[in-house]
Amino acid sequence: MTARLPVQVATLGFPRIGPKRELKTALEAHWAGRLDAKALFAAAADLRGQAWARQRELGADLIPSNDFSLYDHVLDTTAMVGAVPAIYGWSDDRVDLDTYFAMARGAQGDRCEHGHAQVSGHGAQDAPAAEMTKWFDTNYHFIVPEFTADQTFRLASTKALHEYLEAKEQGVETRPVLLGPVSYLLLGKAKGGDFDVLSLLPRLLPVYAEVLRSLARAEATWVQIDEPCLVTDLPEGAAEAYALAYRMLCDVTPPIRVMLTTYFGGLQDNLELALSLPAHGLHVDLVRAPEQLEAVVAGARPDQALSLGVIDGRNVWKADLGAVLDRIEPIVATGRSVIIAPSCSLLHTPIDLERETALAPEVRNWLAFAVQKVGELKVLARALNEGRDAVRAELAAADAAIVSRRNSVLIHDPAVKARTADAAPAQRANGFEIRRLAQAKRLGLPAFPTTTIGSFPQTPEVRKARAEHGKGVLADAAYEQFLREETVRTVRRQEDIGLDVLVHGEFERNDMVQYFGEQLAGFAFTRAAWVQSYGSRCVRPPIIFGDVSRPKPMTVEWWRYAQSLTDKPMKGMLTGPVTILNWSFVRDDQPRSETCRQIAFAIRDEVVDLEAAGAPIIQIDEAALREGLPLRRREWQAYLDWAVECFRITASGVRDETQIHTHMCYSEFNDIIASIGALDADVISIETSRSQMELLDAFKDYKYPAEIGPGVYDIHSPRVPSVEEMTALLVAAKGRLPAERLWVNPDCGLKTRNWPESEAALRNMVAAARAARG
Ligand code: GLN
Ligand code: ZN
Repeated sequence: MTARLPVQVATLGFPRIGPKRELKTALEAHWAGRLDAKALFAAAADLRGQAWARQRELGADLIPSNDFSLYDHVLDTTAMVGAVPAIYGWSDDRVDLDTYFAMARGAQGDRCEHGHAQVSGHGAQDAPAAEMTKWFDTNYHFIVPEFTADQTFRLASTKALHEYLEAKEQGVETRPVLLGPVSYLLLGKAKGGDFDVLSLLPRLLPVYAEVLRSLARAEATWVQIDEPCLVTDLPEGAAEAYALAYRMLCDVTPPIRVMLTTYFGGLQDNLELALSLPAHGLHVDLVRAPEQLEAVVAGARPDQALSLGVIDGRNVWKADLGAVLDRIEPIVATGRSVIIAPSCSLLHTPIDLERETALAPEVRNWLAFAVQKVGELKVLARALNEGRDAVRAELAAADAAIVSRRNSVLIHDPAVKARTADAAPAQRANGFEIRRLAQAKRLGLPAFPTTTIGSFPQTPEVRKARAEHGKGVLADAAYEQFLREETVRTVRRQEDIGLDVLVHGEFERNDMVQYFGEQLAGFAFTRAAWVQSYGSRCVRPPIIFGDVSRPKPMTVEWWRYAQSLTDKPMKGMLTGPVTILNWSFVRDDQPRSETCRQIAFAIRDEVVDLEAAGAPIIQIDEAALREGLPLRRREWQAYLDWAVECFRITASGVRDETQIHTHMCYSEFNDIIASIGALDADVISIETSRSQMELLDAFKDYKYPAEIGPGVYDIHSPRVPSVEEMTALLVAAKGRLPAERLWVNPDCGLKTRNWPESEAALRNMVAAARAARG
């Protein structure tokens, strides 16, 4: 055997929320004034200590610190470099907790379900929360940094050093994690004027260098610097920025070694750039981009440590350890220094499968959460260091799980496979212009028809009833009765307000994806598998493990009941296949597109049944279609093609006179407008009120073929918009689109609002529509 360094295990980042969502509990108690800052800090320190101890027990060699956050690691970076926007009135030495949470949540406000800032609207001191957006293609959200042209930076938080020392005190040597300076700038926004955020780099780097020096003085030997932007299409100037940044950061005194960390995809055309940087180590994602291994190994300097991301940090499946070893053993045999790691931070996986009680044993045996993934890495490391025989039993168990999953009857449904194999493109019988006449005749709606997006306020009573029903305290019949009464009230209120197309209110739904997943074959739900979405908000994404089908109707009875209460048209309400896919943990044994097709056929069955029951209008929400776009632009079209086809599969089983609506609660359509048109929905409702209808320019230029409901009322704020405001928005919409194609509706569902606000706003909305009719 050649004398070489043993292969080490790194984890890159560990879930922060705690096994029982302790962080959520502590944060929310603090925000409610029930837990002071000191107690919050103590709870946070306790969670960090547990995570370090856990990773050490599991045998990780390179344990991260500064991967913890009280809200978000991008916001932590903003605090570290003192880039607090002026509206928060911060001028201290250090960014204090109140300023930190003001940026996260607004000085008075909070965030709605989707994480949009909600501003209370009174008091001059109020500062809204900073913008939040999705972290690459995950369901984690970060606080968007905001820079001005004269932006300055200074060290304003010693969190990284503090947490490194805190771990050391507990006897754990860690590798601190920082979000790299170039990715940090690229994730930010240039405020007030058009300047290149990268031009700020020379001002930013001294702060990073100072942090590195402080860590080196505390005797940290390595630092992990995350540059996920290296797997994206880089803007002009980025290559020079990377060169400048790493020339400086890899050469500080006292020295500290830099593990340049990339994830969420392959380096592709940035590979040469990444290899040219003087980093002491390079981490690459071999789960999303296994094909880059050879080029990385060939191009890395002999003295450069290679960190190979071989375990999926974005999904919940056990790995094929034998297959990983087959790939890695030859590289280790060359004697080069190798680290094995998850593809990315384990932040995006649930913590511990041991805590999960809701899963069927067979399905459970196929899964690995963060703790189990570290265990897998340890088995791999032992096999690489001591030979496969040393872990024969563990490898055999891993193999058995893979084989069990591959052959399970729970997964394979020949009927589903036969159905999705039919490759004929899905299409409605006739084009929009013909359908439109049939629908107009059937529905007899006025000009500027009014409607809502689906949900009505999920009041404390609704949530309480659901919770009690979930705990078994409220019997099925009593819960059903409660939901029916809530639906009756909602229908009456809509009639009273004067809306033209009604909805049932969605009170029976916990969540727009979970509700459907729970009724579809091929889905599993967990009780404890929480993943952080933003701040204290955690979600339990469904796990799609097998072929998807719909055993029986899911929404038809609710629709039928609601329609029986009124003569106005009642919309059927469904979540679309792409959204269900994008908000779930998906199978890794077939392409996402295939899983999406299966979901599409299952939802199509529901659409057809709703039509048969008499539903004149069926809305298929695709809230997550846009966010599923691949990180690389050249991969967009392929995604859009299958996503559009899946929507069309879902929507095309109905007659001309059945009107298909879709809804998308976002406003950036410019680059995907042709695909939105290709969905071939009869009506689309979108978010527009906050952009003053600007986004309609995209619809105008493209000549969108169907009807549009541009939201005239921002549901993210409790403010009740006036008739005049909404009339002005409608006038703006009329200036951009043919009046006979316009619908009048809010930006999104009303579930996070209360009744008095919603009622007042909808009355004003109806008045604005009537005024527009003249
Ligand atoms: N129909 C859903 C609702 O109103 C749509 C939600 C969404 O787009 N996020 O709640
Ligand atoms: Zn929406």
